[in-house]
Amino acid sequence: MRSLLVANRGEIACRVMRSAKQQGIKTIAVYSTADEHAQHVLQADTAVCIGPALASESYLSIDALIDAALRTGADAIHPGYGFLSENPEFVEACVANNIQFVGPSAAAMRAMGLKDAAKVLMEKAGVPVVPGYHGDNQDAAFLEAQALSIGYPVLIKARAGGGGKGMRRVDEPTEFSASLMSAQREASASFGDAHVLIEKFISHPRHIEVQVFGDSHGNVVHLFERDCSLQRRHQKVIEEAPAPGMSAQVRDAMTQAAVTAARAINYEGAGTIEFIVDGSDGLQVDGFWFMEMNTRLQVEHPVTEAITGVDLVEWQLRVAAGEPLPLSQDELSIQGHSVEARIYAEDPEAGFLPATGRLQRLDFSDIGRVDSGVVQGDEVLPFYDPLLAKLITHAPDRISAFNLLAQQLAASTVLGTQTNREFLWRLVSDEQVQAGFFDTAFIDQHLQALVAKDCQPQLVALACLALIEPAVATATTLSVNSAVSTQLGAWQLWGPCHRTATLMVGDSVHTLSAVQVGVTSTSSVWRMCAESLEGFPEAGIEVARLSATRCQIDGVDQAGSVVADESLVHVQLGAWSDKFGRVIAGAASLGGVADDAIAAPMPGRIVAVHCAVGDVVAAGQALLSMEAMKMEQDLCCTRDGVVEALNVATGDQVAQGLELLRLAAD
Ligand code: ADP
Repeated sequence: MRSLLVANRGEIACRVMRSAKQQGIKTIAVYSTADEHAQHVLQADTAVCIGPALASESYLSIDALIDAALRTGADAIHPGYGFLSENPEFVEACVANNIQFVGPSAAAMRAMGLKDAAKVLMEKAGVPVVPGYHGDNQDAAFLEAQALSIGYPVLIKARAGGGGKGMRRVDEPTEFSASLMSAQREASASFGDAHVLIEKFISHPRHIEVQVFGDSHGNVVHLFERDCSLQRRHQKVIEEAPAPGMSAQVRDAMTQAAVTAARAINYEGAGTIEFIVDGSDGLQVDGFWFMEMNTRLQVEHPVTEAITGVDLVEWQLRVAAGEPLPLSQDELSIQGHSVEARIYAEDPEAGFLPATGRLQRLDFSDIGRVDSGVVQGDEVLPFYDPLLAKLITHAPDRISAFNLLAQQLAASTVLGTQTNREFLWRLVSDEQVQAGFFDTAFIDQHLQALVAKDCQPQLVALACLALIEPAVATATTLSVNSAVSTQLGAWQLWGPCHRTATLMVGDSVHTLSAVQVGVTSTSSVWRMCAESLEGFPEAGIEVARLSATRCQIDGVDQAGSVVADESLVHVQLGAWSDKFGRVIAGAASLGGVADDAIAAPMPGRIVAVHCAVGDVVAAGQALLSMEAMKMEQDLCCTRDGVVEALNVATGDQVAQGLELLRLAAD
């Protein structure tokens, strides 16, 4: 293998190319027009544009990818994860064009591609599967009867599902039919397949998966387990290896079941067998069941790399080239503990709504490994998954690995878009999480505390600095000259300078007064006062900026950054971060949702319209469903009323801010 085309983007494309380069393999990137200047393009030896921004016309276009591979003479294609990584037709297209696909055969993929068929296969191989119905009958009444005989709570799952989509937990028979319909709608919109299965919902569920690897010489090994139980909406948030509380017996049973599963389909390459585990009473040899197999590299593969010392991408490339697995089972062992956090552009306060924006300040701490595909100045695009980076730590023991990760999250700065960084920091610092006492419901149960934003006066004070000294907001580095002029500009001949700044703190507008009380070697020191803001110290807070990444608060130097765009000021102080609305003169209010209309919160596609013109609707009712950044969300009205105008239909692509629906005036 001399050249490798990576049919992906973002962090995983960069990650794959890194290992390819180390093996002396020439790297070829592909990109959509929106990704022209993306890191994966810049890091590749060559790059080919494969189409417009919309993934269906670029990263998901088999024709465009094969064409790019033929044009560049690529020997092999690595699919990364997501996109076409589990698409057997893509594998067949590669084979037909004499290009090596880095991954399993199309047949192995098909065997595991649909959750229902995979469960049948695993049952036959003697691997324990979750009790439930995974047959062909899709009649709603029949499925409801099945749910009843399985026993509530049950889980409806799209057989073609992935990423937690098309999945609904149902606790009561009365909710079944509505949940079924919504699962089917999401499944058919996301996967073009509305077929579902019904599973028993395992109580105190933990998600533990086993990394397996096969080669073309009939060898199969496992690389131990990962615990991915910290989830939100069935999506992984934190992953670690090994699993807390794992005994040698349970590990043996689980890894053996995983190897059996891989052997049953003559698996070649990297794969993951996911188990749902009953965590109500410790881990038991008879308390885990096969859920599905992912026939590709996983997002969370770095934690396995950390504890085994194996470069999984290197193994993938060697196996694809026909080499045997570099190590046998006996030669593999676990060293220490590793944990990974995924930083997404999303707003935890707003229900984890995906966020866009420009990464005005970006600095990931290198306390642990950083896998990222973006750099400062990049735009977070609405077309793709908003994963910005993965931070991975490795230490001799679990607590140290978590503490290191907490430090790494606190010491990393991401400003300009909303992110889950602070949420992750709180999560990995949590005592119960650090003790290993959690199941997949933990995040939902503790959501309030994990996303709470109590007004922090120091953050407000730092935000005001950006409005008072605008240079602070835009300059990444401040030259000595401009520092001096800032100082001179602020001092007036007859005494210290007074300024005011107005911003939105939560839902209300506050005006802070600032008076210059001194200078540091690079900037002015301001005392900020906010009479109307509860909790703000009466004597005020003294703030100065020392550099782009450090500030001084009440005489204490610390890590702190602030950037502003037209509508928001983003602040980070140590581990804490927040955003405040800017109040532009003339605008009555900012940030509030107009009561009379629903506008698109971001660019996306309307996937369902739940009302018609003339309908009487109630506050909180979902009137539209929209898909943006690979997530479906409901758009609800904020008051009772009558639908007066409906400006969109199912399938419409809409721009951010577009008025979608209007209620008649009260
Ligand atoms: P997807 O392919 O959409 O990611 P999975 O089948 O892998 O769906 O399940 C995702 C998550 O949903 C699991 O990690 C687990 O938290 C939860 N889950 C799945 N099946 C069950 C079950 N039977 N009982 C309880 N939780 C489950």
